[in-house]
Amino acid sequence: CGIVGILGTHEVAPLILEALKRLEYRGYDSAGIATLQDGHLDRRRAVGKLINLSDRLVHEPLPGKAGIGHTRWATHGAPTEANAHPHQTGPVAVVHNGIIENYRGLRAELSGSNFESETDTETVAHLCARFMAQGMDPRAAAVATIARLEGAFALCFLFHGEEDLIIAARKGSPLAIGHGEGEMFVGSDAIALAPMTEKITYLDEGDYAFVTRAGAEVFAADGTAVTRPLARIERGA
Ligand code: GLU
Repeated sequence: CGIVGILGTHEVAPLILEALKRLEYRGYDSAGIATLQDGHLDRRRAVGKLINLSDRLVHEPLPGKAGIGHTRWATHGAPTEANAHPHQTGPVAVVHNGIIENYRGLRAELSGSNFESETDTETVAHLCARFMAQGMDPRAAAVATIARLEGAFALCFLFHGEEDLIIAARKGSPLAIGHGEGEMFVGSDAIALAPMTEKITYLDEGDYAFVTRAGAEVFAADGTAVTRPLARIERGA
């Protein structure tokens, strides 16, 4: 339901939590955050309100300067911790808004993988991990994965060993990229990012983006590099 991604200069878990709070108005039943620490993916998830996730983080902190977060409104699978995002398979963690319509077919194709949840989303992480196991780098694997997905979605990918990369994709669900000073942000709406930046680029329908701290490379669905306009929002609005 709500997505946040940050490539930061400081610890990102508190910032992601803060941004997720700004998305609470959309409604949700569970939440989670994944970060990279020394290249290793780790995550915390909790059912219910964000306070449950922040309590968890007090006792089990999630260090790291790169991370993704999510508030979930369950469509596929009950609101449990196992079904909460981020979903992680091997080197890939994913947060997702919307519905992957062809997840059953994909899941059948991925038989042999160990599924830990009942979500449509987990198939995205498995598919991407499989492409990487076949030798693709994270960018190629994410693009190949996105090309296989049907339905309406906004997605963020975070990868083991990639402290300076978030891959974002938009089809049917909005996604905005925020530009900071040596920091970059992704959010399912600009409101989530307003305290951190006033410079926003909205992805167009079908776009995907390679986001690094140096900026965002945006591509249309056919792989053509595109430039999307920079909008200014009121900081802190
Ligand atoms: N379909 C996904 C799920 O049920 C994402 C739901 C959402 O948009 O929060 O986990």
